[in-house]
Amino acid sequence: MFIRMINVWIDSRYNNYISKQEVFKYLTISPFYHLLYNNNVHVYLTDSNVVDEICPPERRKFLDVETIKKQELPLFRFHEETREEYKKEYLKKTIDEFWKKLKEYEKRYPVLGCYCNCITDDLIYELSHKIPLVKKPSIFIAVDRCLNVARNLNSTGLIISTTTSSQQNVINIAKSIIKSALIHETFHAFTDLNGKHYRNESWFKLIEESLANAVAYGFINKRDKIIFEEISSKQPLEYQAYKYWWNRLKHKSELMTTCHIWLRDNLYGVPFMIYPLIFFFIPAILPIEGYRRLLIEILHEMSIRYGFHEFFHKVIGPMIIYGKISNIDIMWKLFGMVMIYYLKKEL
Ligand SMILES: [Zn+2]
Repeated sequence: MFIRMINVWIDSRYNNYISKQEVFKYLTISPFYHLLYNNNVHVYLTDSNVVDEICPPERRKFLDVETIKKQELPLFRFHEETREEYKKEYLKKTIDEFWKKLKEYEKRYPVLGCYCNCITDDLIYELSHKIPLVKKPSIFIAVDRCLNVARNLNSTGLIISTTTSSQQNVINIAKSIIKSALIHETFHAFTDLNGKHYRNESWFKLIEESLANAVAYGFINKRDKIIFEEISSKQPLEYQAYKYWWNRLKHKSELMTTCHIWLRDNLYGVPFMIYPLIFFFIPAILPIEGYRRLLIEILHEMSIRYGFHEFFHKVIGPMIIYGKISNIDIMWKLFGMVMIYYLKKEL
């Protein structure tokens, strides 16, 4: 039998802070609500011990913004006349070295939430006294952490409603944090349930987490956005990188296109007729939707800056469009490098 519903479970210790109805209400804000519903996703409001038990330590490692700001970006050193094969190898090597280096700058951060589609019998048994786990795709929120962040924000004088007590203010801030964290996690459910599984590589985490946060930011209201901005300013690069998207995309629809390009690893949405145009004229004049153009434009711009302009037109461009590459990751790795390049200046 196939059950279509979302299960919400809240640790009884947090019953005074938040209700199931509120959690359901928050989930409906997510553009992926129907997906959670159709896949019988379970949502647990639990504590940080459970979240850390379920989310493996290597997935809690992220990039420190200040460290990244200090780092030099690599330059590609080839000229237009260099053989294509050499360029291809050189580019690939340089990109891999860049991401290998970046991994060294990762450090462990506490996470507010986690999505997991790999609940094992061992986990169910181990955590049975704390939480009623089942083998379903699940979202976990560390309510104690959300409350701590809320208390800190409250003590810095962030007041989101003038008529409430300090205690009520903390609860309201915590609810707002839980709301954003839930929507963030629904993005991970979206990619995972559509077959793109989380990878513990820096470039993957950068794009996946920044999009997850960009979606959360895009779908919450103005008041929640203030709290979101406040929290994210202390978060690692991958999370702060949501700004990269919102500094460039103007509409939620463009963000959703971006999410689908990331999910499907392709640009099939670009009408076939204009493919050749993209690579012979200035991409900016093309009447294609925001992000599809942006993706090509940015890689193009980077190719000029780093001296592989011709290589972009001859190899990378066709590679993206026609999928004539054994591994599309190189495009995302390159794109992640561009993101970091801009984030260094924008954060
Ligand atoms: Zn995430």
